[in-house]
Amino acid sequence: MEFKQGDRVRIEKNGTVYEGKVMPSMEGHITIKMNSGYNAGFFTDNVKITLLESNGENTNGGLNGGKESKMVEENIPKPGKKLPKVAILSTGGTIASKIDYRTGAVTSQFTADDILAAIPELREIADFKGRVISSILSENMDSESWQNLARAVVEEIEAGADGVIVTHGTDTMMYTAAALSFMIETPVPIVLVGSQRSADRPSSDNAMNAICAALVAVSDIAEVSVVMHGTTSDNFCEIHRGTKVRKMHTSRRDAFKSINSLPIGIVDYDTREITTFIDYIKPGERPLKFKPGMEPKCALIKFTPGSGPEILDHYIDRGYRGLVLEGTGLGHVSTKWIPKIRKATDAKMPVIITSQCLNGRICDRVYDTGRDMLKAGAIEGEDTLPETALVKLMWVLGQTDEFDEAIEMLSEDLSGEITKCCFK
Ligand code: ASP
Repeated sequence: MEFKQGDRVRIEKNGTVYEGKVMPSMEGHITIKMNSGYNAGFFTDNVKITLLESNGENTNGGLNGGKESKMVEENIPKPGKKLPKVAILSTGGTIASKIDYRTGAVTSQFTADDILAAIPELREIADFKGRVISSILSENMDSESWQNLARAVVEEIEAGADGVIVTHGTDTMMYTAAALSFMIETPVPIVLVGSQRSADRPSSDNAMNAICAALVAVSDIAEVSVVMHGTTSDNFCEIHRGTKVRKMHTSRRDAFKSINSLPIGIVDYDTREITTFIDYIKPGERPLKFKPGMEPKCALIKFTPGSGPEILDHYIDRGYRGLVLEGTGLGHVSTKWIPKIRKATDAKMPVIITSQCLNGRICDRVYDTGRDMLKAGAIEGEDTLPETALVKLMWVLGQTDEFDEAIEMLSEDLSGEITKCCFK
């Protein structure tokens, strides 16, 4: 039996029943909009589909024929209609994943082109070019992956892209966003997007996130940003600065939050309008600059009460080049750690202090402990997130071998990671 767009259908899969209206769908695939407002996508060969109500307009079109196919074609820009050029680079993660029903595990299997094919609305927004960088879950990213990705982003900008979208696993997306922020001074938007639920789940956030990301990629926000659901509903996405964002929930669709900053703005999913809240860099305000150097031998160490200072010896003795400490409150570690901070800075290893509180600013001038840490050579990370501080340290040490120059660069705001403070 064939179905057309607008038909009401029932789909049964593995004992679960879904009902909704057929939406534009690609060959071998059916997408429905359910009463809850969520979209659900299925491969037609492993589900049972029953027609509940025909939309009555056209009875001779199947999933890829008649009205439906025509509508998909209409969404593809006609020659002559000039749309901005956007490169979509896929790296893997849930946004490129589906469940492998042999194993029950979610694996990265879609490319950028598959994502474009599955979300035809994207083609109304830009003229896309897809490119596969990797197909990995983001826990497998490292500084070399960031450099390869950054190189590809720069190539696309040099080739004339008006914006770049990077599809990425959510778990480490903030590290990659920070890395791209430090490595690339961009004249166009670079947007990272992911999804918390894979495309074949009824509550998948992939389509809305991808559409919001595309709208930001053609906007005047010439920065590295992360675009993800702003709430648990399908109403708007938030646009987070790449150095100020963190994944704050394991599974909610609105897991990403700007920390110590407002988001740059939001994208209204209904009206497709962008509203901004803070200043941002506009296209053409700065020329493209690419500095990919990265020093991988840096570590982020969390202080916990009672933890022994010898953990620092481990890194110092193994030739690490710099450390970020995630201290308590205003930025403290046990006084037992302070001689080891001195040992590190004497060995020309920068030591940056950040806070486990995440929200707020480091101030090591209030208590004796903090003052002694500063005397031992530690630098206050101000209101920088611990993981952003780590990526900054890796990047700075990839740019210079001079300790004093590194300390100077680490103390400055390089890419929006430090909010200017009222009392400094
Ligand atoms: N583990 C996955 C990843 O980060 C989760 C996700 O994509 O949301 O690649």
